[in-house]
Amino acid sequence: MIALARGAVGASVPVPAPVPAGDAALDFIARTRFDRPTLVIDSARIRAQYDALVEGLAGAHIHYAVKANPAPAILRLLAERGAGFDAASRAEIEMCLAAGARPEMISFGNTIKKPADIAHAWRAGVRLFAADAAEELDKIAEHAPGARVYLRIIVENCQADWPLTRKFGCAPQALPGLLDHAVARGLTPVGLSFHVGSQTREARFWAPVLDQVATLWHQARSDGHKLSLLNIGGGFPAFYDQPVEAPRAYAAGVLALVRERFGDVEIMAEPGRGLVAEAGHIAAEVVLVSRKSPSDLHRWVYLDIGKFSGLAETMDEAIRYTIDTPHDGGETGPCILAGPSCDSADVLYERRPMQLPLALRAGDRVVIRNCGAYTSTYASVGFNGFPPLDVIVL
Ligand SMILES: *Cc1c(COP(=O)(O)O)cnc(C)c1O
Repeated sequence: MIALARGAVGASVPVPAPVPAGDAALDFIARTRFDRPTLVIDSARIRAQYDALVEGLAGAHIHYAVKANPAPAILRLLAERGAGFDAASRAEIEMCLAAGARPEMISFGNTIKKPADIAHAWRAGVRLFAADAAEELDKIAEHAPGARVYLRIIVENCQADWPLTRKFGCAPQALPGLLDHAVARGLTPVGLSFHVGSQTREARFWAPVLDQVATLWHQARSDGHKLSLLNIGGGFPAFYDQPVEAPRAYAAGVLALVRERFGDVEIMAEPGRGLVAEAGHIAAEVVLVSRKSPSDLHRWVYLDIGKFSGLAETMDEAIRYTIDTPHDGGETGPCILAGPSCDSADVLYERRPMQLPLALRAGDRVVIRNCGAYTSTYASVGFNGFPPLDVIVL
């Protein structure tokens, strides 16, 4: 197959190069020359991850967290497989509908919504909404009267690499009042949601969080609320620089912990990272290798991609990507890795420098592995004139 990468400056040309076996995105990158940083996604890999999660979560509804990667081809293949979608905005809802999702398979999962967007979603046929505050319930009651809602709660003691609490969710003691408020406003409170934190590497880390949710769940039921839907959010991990369980085993582990505490309730899960991260790799290039002085122990390695062009999750060095270079196997030394922009915040790894080959030079192709999630959408529209991340779905 001759496939051409789309690029800002003319078409790219295929390059004959040795092809490593077994990973279609890596194979494609190896034989293609790109004129800008490009994320290559292997859609077969997403299908396989989806099927593994479906099996592991036996019977749960999977609503893909669209923000992880909204490439139309990804949304289409998931819609075809029967997935639902967790959308955070009007535009994400429209992307899901355009990809063939039925509106009743879409939940409006952002707890922070504008009235016009709620009204639009309701008109489009979306029936399930998230909330964590009385004012939000008022907005939903006004613009989506009678809608099904789930209340998001704050959970503590998350052991995730990328926590997603504090900003979202109500405090446990606020829940009873919010459930009563939803009923008083004519809404149908059907359940609870939480997020254990993105990149929660081990299934057992879910146990203390599920304990907190279960206490509230059983309390609400004994207060007379007929809760039937538990939305367990995302958190399903991807391999970066530390081992994680295979998706099916991990999902089955989480499901067992949920069933122990909640019995036979309807479960909804919203994986983002766990579905798409490992399906994509970024082809990038070294722009400069330098030392600040002859005695500097660290080299600075500047790539053509940085925090503002797709690698935002390196913030606080939270997510540590693995990087392949043409010199792997040779002698290495510590490097501070940085992006190309004229902003001193555009440094990827400094506190924990990366070991990279001493032979690394400007012009070398590098491959940043397992970047299918939270990269393309985090890229700025053109800070300093650097193009946003290009995406190719195979
Ligand atoms: C981002 C998000 C997710 C996806 O989280 P992952 O850790 O990527 O699986 C799920 N649910 C909600 C509400 C989110 O905001």
